[in-house]
Amino acid sequence: MAVVPVYNSILVPESTFVLQTDYYKKMTGKVPNQGEKVTVILCRENLPREELTEDSFYPIGVQGSISEVNQNGYIVIRTGSRVNLNEITIYNDHSIDLDITKRKDIDDLDPDVAEERLKKLKRQLFKYAENFENVQISRAFIAQWHSVGEIVSAMGPWLMNSSKERYAVLAEDSRAARQELMENMIYENFEAYKINNEAENAQEEEHKKIYREAAIKKQMEYLQKELDEMHPEEVTELRKFEIRIRESGMNETARKEAEKVLNRLKQEGQAGPESGMLYDYLDFLLSLSWVKEKAVNIDLDEAEAILNETHYGLQKVKSRILQQIAVMNLKRQQSGSILCFVGAPGSGKTSIGQGIANALGRKYVRVSLGGARDEADIRGHRRTYIGAMPGRIMDGIAKSGVSNPVMVLDEIDKLGVSYNGDPASALLEVLDPEQNNTFTDHYMNVPYDLSNVLFICTANTLDTIPAPLLDRMEVIQFQGYTPTEKYEIARRHLLPKAMRAVGIREESLSVTDDALNEIISDYTREAGVRGLKKRLDTLCRMAAVDIVRGKDEGLVIDTDNLRDYLDMHPIRHGLVKNEARPGVVTGLAWTQVGGEVLFIETLFTRGSGKTVVTGQLGDVMKESAQIAVSLVKSIFPEKTELFKESDLHIHVPDGATPKDGPSAGITLTTALSSLVTGVPVSPQVAMTGEVSLQGDVKPIGGLPEKLMAAQRAGATHVFIPKDNVEDLRDVAEEVKFVLEITPVSTVEEVLQALGILNDVIENVS
Ligand code: ADP
Repeated sequence: MAVVPVYNSILVPESTFVLQTDYYKKMTGKVPNQGEKVTVILCRENLPREELTEDSFYPIGVQGSISEVNQNGYIVIRTGSRVNLNEITIYNDHSIDLDITKRKDIDDLDPDVAEERLKKLKRQLFKYAENFENVQISRAFIAQWHSVGEIVSAMGPWLMNSSKERYAVLAEDSRAARQELMENMIYENFEAYKINNEAENAQEEEHKKIYREAAIKKQMEYLQKELDEMHPEEVTELRKFEIRIRESGMNETARKEAEKVLNRLKQEGQAGPESGMLYDYLDFLLSLSWVKEKAVNIDLDEAEAILNETHYGLQKVKSRILQQIAVMNLKRQQSGSILCFVGAPGSGKTSIGQGIANALGRKYVRVSLGGARDEADIRGHRRTYIGAMPGRIMDGIAKSGVSNPVMVLDEIDKLGVSYNGDPASALLEVLDPEQNNTFTDHYMNVPYDLSNVLFICTANTLDTIPAPLLDRMEVIQFQGYTPTEKYEIARRHLLPKAMRAVGIREESLSVTDDALNEIISDYTREAGVRGLKKRLDTLCRMAAVDIVRGKDEGLVIDTDNLRDYLDMHPIRHGLVKNEARPGVVTGLAWTQVGGEVLFIETLFTRGSGKTVVTGQLGDVMKESAQIAVSLVKSIFPEKTELFKESDLHIHVPDGATPKDGPSAGITLTTALSSLVTGVPVSPQVAMTGEVSLQGDVKPIGGLPEKLMAAQRAGATHVFIPKDNVEDLRDVAEEVKFVLEITPVSTVEEVLQALGILNDVIENVS
């Protein structure tokens, strides 16, 4: 007797069971012979014969005999009754021996009922056979079946039941119950097929629809393109918008909004009241770049070379910019910390922004914030307003035509505030890397990613920049240029540019070194080079006239004819009046346009002890003046009477800022001391420093600018607070070379050095 282990089959007693011949051979190690008795047993798992153990089987099997060995590779087993597997033995050669006993059925099946139900099942099967091509049962087949058992064992391979469910049929003792189990199995499976089929069909329909839609759209686009090409003159504005929207690479929100507006524009028609507004909106949205630019690696040497080419000097600034580029390279980012360039006008802040853009190979755009008073200036007006416009930031992005320009936000210190919201808070959002990737301009009403924009701010002073904004930025000071630097800038950049601008060739005009230096010293008075640029522009324009008139082949401008070509008088530098008078002392001030010298004048008039302060500074200066008066009274007690008998008039000329009030303390004190003692102070001696009532000299700000101003104005000796000595590192060598700089910590030191105190007359010059 052969023992055939099978897996995942439905074994039905008194029915048929079909097996592949090869499988039979493999699992039994025998060749099948017709008539041979077999016991078919069910495995719990699908295992090869070698791995089967005594525990691999369900405890009930079925007996039978091979009724047919088919030429097509099948054998048919006619099954008989069920058997209990009492003991299973597996030998070394993997053959299986069984100890079995018959297992009895409960004979509770009414043959008539069974017959009736079989008929019904067959009817259903005919129906299914028509509908389901994938269930391979033919009508002829169905007709042959005489029992539900035969149907189930024939259809076994297609039924979607687990091996446990399949075994349950064999394990069922009641014939009636077994029949019902098998019927249900078939009905359930057909239901499942039905649902599957429906779902598949539905899915197919859906896919078909999508494919069809895409195909139609493609076809339409193609045809429309052909038409457009045939009649380019007829491509309408709206059609152009459609194409531009499709090709823009907009984010989902923006595309939806654009399509919505385009539809409105279509409905509205050209003559509609809102068509202009809708048109402008679409045009603006589409003028923005919606594609993400790739971060490229920047060659630092090349970047440095470009910066050096466009700007002379500014070493500290350039090295900071290179650091930034290096960090951006390492982090593969297109933006980094927000730099804020602070310095006098014409010191190169804005133009170096252009240099940075060139060095990075990116587009440059300048956005002026001067006078921005409303939030709408930054963030735009809502479209419901008539004449609504995008804000300055998005306008700048549109102008640049890319999504990653270098954007210079100019004059961030000139932001205003009005009742319409604070532009600074909108700017905060623009500059915040956490938020600016979804910056939403009110006009656009859709988010735009600003995170790849490299922002650079410029300002003349830090004082008026709102603190939260300042917090976000890294400040880089532009201290202004020394005369030598100005000379180099003029020679290398400004003059050649000015000549090119009016079309003068190099050989037609030369300006001597002396003439250039004279323009710098006598015709400009500034920390930057704006005035210098203007002078050179004028010079070139005027020279152009002569050159065109053919007066001069190779025009040479030297100190003799310079004035004719500048069309202005030399600026009388306030200083350096040679005459020293008691009560007048040279002070140094810091202003938004760089350092300045100013002369503090004091005078006693007949009167009754009043103090008058005139000049721009008013109140702030009054305090300093009071401290100075008290100090001088205490230093020169014998002169106290003088203050009682006369009125004191202090005049501080315009030009300084209120901040300079305190730092003029030492100058005021010295001027007063000079006045009361009658000892004059050379105007070539300048000084800066705050004083305390104890007579200590306190540190001040803006030392580099002040010293530069002193040098510019022709001073030779400067007193500075001792605590500012550190700042001398930032002062150009050239300036330090010309000036004798004396750090002091008390007023007495100054007065002694100047010969005012202790009657030590010493001519300091
Ligand atoms: P700011 O923005 O500080 O007011 P700008 O950048 O507008 O100054 O500079 C004014 C002019 O001076 C520009 O034409 C600029 O090219 C020129 N300039 C300023 N600094 C330099 C420099 N270091 N080298 C060459 N040109 C300079």
